[in-house]
Amino acid sequence: MISFTKKLSTKFHFLVNNWHALDIIFQSPCLLCDAITLNKSAICKSCLADLEWNVTFCKQCSLPMNSESCKELICGECLSSPPPFKTCVAPFNYSFPINSIIYRVKSSGEQYWLKSLGLEFCRYL
Ligand SMILES: [Zn+2]
Ligand SMILES: [Zn+2]
Repeated sequence: MISFTKKLSTKFHFLVNNWHALDIIFQSPCLLCDAITLNKSAICKSCLADLEWNVTFCKQCSLPMNSESCKELICGECLSSPPPFKTCVAPFNYSFPINSIIYRVKSSGEQYWLKSLGLEFCRYL
């Protein structure tokens, strides 16, 4: 007779002693390209590298700016009509696929995107 508890014990023993095997269990397809990823963010490294990160921006409103020579610039809008906040953080430019993801979260309630983008936001900070 096969012991059910013996089987579970053997599987648990295997997982504990081969913890890296858990990566196989928790791998998931990238949300953007369907490639298998082991990232916690569920967006593969290739897609993360392709995202349009906000590198040069207004230090007050985070509007993307063209100048890479000075990172302490304030845009004309903030100079002429200062917003009621001192700073804003925007890790990505509002372009594809970020604009599409934001639209899907807002219109369709696809909140699973928020975990991935939240992790990247934390890394950006
Ligand atoms: Zn991907
Ligand atoms: Zn600004």
